[in-house]
Amino acid sequence: MPMSDSFRKRLSAILPEIVSTFGTPFHIYDEIGICDTCDTLTAAFRPVGGFKEYFAVKALPNPAVMEILHKKGFGFDCSSVPELVLARKIGAKGEALMFTSNNTSAEQFRQAMAHGGCILNLDDTSLVQKLPGVPELICFRYNPGPKRSGNHIIGNPVEAKYGVSHDQIQTAYEKAIQMGVKRFGIHTMLASNERNFTYMVETADMLLSIITEIHKNLGITFEFINIGGGLGIPYTPEDTPFDLAAMAGGIRESLAEFKKKHSWAPRLYMESGRYITGPHGVLVTSVINHKQIYRDYVGVDASMSALMRPGMYGAYHHVHVHGKDHLPVSGPVDVVGSLCENNDKFAIQRLLPKTGEGDILVIHDTGAHGHSMGFNYNGHLRPKELVLKKDGSVALIRRAETMADYFATLAFAPQTMDL
Ligand SMILES: *Cc1c(COP(=O)(O)O)cnc(C)c1O
Repeated sequence: MPMSDSFRKRLSAILPEIVSTFGTPFHIYDEIGICDTCDTLTAAFRPVGGFKEYFAVKALPNPAVMEILHKKGFGFDCSSVPELVLARKIGAKGEALMFTSNNTSAEQFRQAMAHGGCILNLDDTSLVQKLPGVPELICFRYNPGPKRSGNHIIGNPVEAKYGVSHDQIQTAYEKAIQMGVKRFGIHTMLASNERNFTYMVETADMLLSIITEIHKNLGITFEFINIGGGLGIPYTPEDTPFDLAAMAGGIRESLAEFKKKHSWAPRLYMESGRYITGPHGVLVTSVINHKQIYRDYVGVDASMSALMRPGMYGAYHHVHVHGKDHLPVSGPVDVVGSLCENNDKFAIQRLLPKTGEGDILVIHDTGAHGHSMGFNYNGHLRPKELVLKKDGSVALIRRAETMADYFATLAFAPQTMDL
């Protein structure tokens, strides 16, 4: 079920007050929900031993939320230098940081290795010689190609630009050994929003079989396997939740078997984003217009600059009208923003209670890949972010963008190059 009953109850009780204090639109995140999910994840994988979650920063790059995760003992998976800097700003450092980039420049590696470094997750064998020094620990991202099928958000591994191919993976570690690297890990990321736990167990098994082969040929052991993120959440009321306990149980068995055979075993790392924060955020927006042409439209004051997923992936986000739950649904309606793009729709042909101007719509499950994916196309500004704290108070953790922000990078007196 989208949005937990607990979050909904606590939010609904004070929503009009939040709206009148801060104004719409905004994303609001639930500290209690995020903490509970952290605890559930940690407890589920405790029996696996040595488990560590590296939160995928791109899902929700706000330091107020990252601090909560940091306190819960999570590391951070960063895919750019600004994300690394953000994670360092809240005190994460060294091996609590993973740098998983793609098509990385030598300069990016230099910055990643400075300031106490991080775990480098290399995306290609050619990148080994682009490092500014010899890191103690190296990880490669593995792309199994035709050996696995991806899912629709992340695509087919054969067509994916990520990772080292199967026939190059051993050479990659050989190069690292020659360079003087002493410690090793392996990474992969194959699925996105996958609610079938067996897929994740298969991914762990796949990495265990590869490191078995590399260990046999090169004699190195692996400190960790990182199976990536991609754990799914229920976006529609019909979706079943991900079975975390079953996944943990399956991987624990695989690791125990591995340990019996080899007398050593890697730790399990994961870098989920969506699973950790996705259900614990909502986008709150006000109804500003109604329009009846060939379809009925409900116009709201947020647009896809606040939430790209419906427009980009055709993703479903559950919507409820604040205070009108008890009313019968009518419609169908399309819930739309004001961008000059016909895919600027939060909901398509959705049955909702009849709305009036000023009604507050709550768009569920925007806690991951929501605000962070927003853009400024069409001069649309990104909304503010709030957090509903444990003690029931509400804090502004990012202000809305202003026109001054939008103009900030423009050179009104152009820099010219004389020839
Ligand atoms: C996006 C991404 C993640 C997080 O994905 P979720 O679906 O949010 O769990 C993890 N690792 C890498 C490398 C990614 O690109």
